[in-house]
Amino acid sequence: MICPRCNFKNDATTMYCRACGAQIKYTDVRVKDTLKEEMEQQQADQWEEQTRQFLVLGICLFLIAITWKIVFSNPDPPKCYVLPPCSDRASYAQIKYEHQLVVEREALEVPKTK
Ligand SMILES: [Zn+2]
Repeated sequence: MICPRCNFKNDATTMYCRACGAQIKYTDVRVKDTLKEEMEQQQADQWEEQTRQFLVLGICLFLIAITWKIVFSNPDPPKCYVLPPCSDRASYAQIKYEHQLVVEREALEVPKTK
């Protein structure tokens, strides 16, 4: 209820203004407006609280998902024989180096000494 003398916003049930002490006279329209304002304010607060709870829940689920992914995903690191990666999971830094040496059978035979 808004005080007619000082325009202080009081509760809907106050008889006297909390700021200036003037008596507040109730009329149907003023009570209705005040109750309507308070109801809208409560709905806005409730909506804000629900939004905050959804955000916190979403952030928690996101963090749990990331933790789950980090802890429980253990991909087999590809083998690297020449340049090992910095860590087991650093597959992006891995350099695959394959070298196939073809040796003919005749080259392996030791020539006979006389
Ligand atoms: Zn007042």
